[in-house]
Amino acid sequence: MKTLDKLMARSGNQCELCAATENLSIYDVPPTASNLSDREILACETCLNQIEKKEELNAGHWQSLSTSMWNENLPVQVVSWRMLNRFRNESWAADLLDMMYLDDETLDWAKQTGDHEGDGSIDLHKDCNGNILIGGDTVTLIKDLDVKGSTLNAKIGTAVRNIRLVHDNTEQIEGKIDGQQIVILTKYVKKQN
Ligand SMILES: [Zn+2]
Repeated sequence: MKTLDKLMARSGNQCELCAATENLSIYDVPPTASNLSDREILACETCLNQIEKKEELNAGHWQSLSTSMWNENLPVQVVSWRMLNRFRNESWAADLLDMMYLDDETLDWAKQTGDHEGDGSIDLHKDCNGNILIGGDTVTLIKDLDVKGSTLNAKIGTAVRNIRLVHDNTEQIEGKIDGQQIVILTKYVKKQN
């Protein structure tokens, strides 16, 4: 049986985290280099976007973790544990984590993305209007950019396609203007819809 069919059957055609029945796809629980045979879960788009930090966390969406944390499938437990950890400063999540039990091996796996570290908040790249930017977006410049030592024509209104997010700096993106790859500050761009 194909993986998707298997997961559909296992979950009863619903998101294994929040029970949504629309926009389901396979989430390969990282790290994907591991050789565990059972590593996938079925998840909806909303869950996936928040897991992958493309959208801000919405605690209201994750109350269902109180159910999914008891799922018999380890990858579902792992993702539930990770998401609970992102909310661990909130009492509802802290209480659930206190009740949750993972064996040592599974706990090691769960810890590998570091969701139990840091303050649980996520940093997102945002444009001048506060819209979330993701890799591959097209943005337009909202001011002329003065690129030192260059004749680059980076005028206000210039479209920059297929941007790349600068890892570990949410104020910067990279994109090509006139064939040159440059770093642009997110506050000077507007996301194109
Ligand atoms: Zn979901």
